[in-house]
Amino acid sequence: MCPVCRGRRQTAKHLLQFYKEHAPLTCEIDAYGDFLQALGPEATAEYCGDVKNVISVEAGLTKTRLALYEHLKGCKLNVVLCDQVCETW
Ligand SMILES: [Zn+2]
Repeated sequence: MCPVCRGRRQTAKHLLQFYKEHAPLTCEIDAYGDFLQALGPEATAEYCGDVKNVISVEAGLTKTRLALYEHLKGCKLNVVLCDQVCETW
């Protein structure tokens, strides 16, 4: 976990700090392919070099994924399950 965010539990704050440290980003970072896989006690860096589901592989993708993984390492993954569909239309 990064020293700047140590003690903070909110993953969103880690993502914001990561952006401040690495802006401008040179590749797309998304939830499913990138930062969700870095969360939780069983996360490993294996996904960082796996680009089989990436449509456009930018040069800095693996390096950025590794940096993001290192930044988020140790963060918990909390999931909220919703059992009802909102009918607001
Ligand atoms: Zn952080």
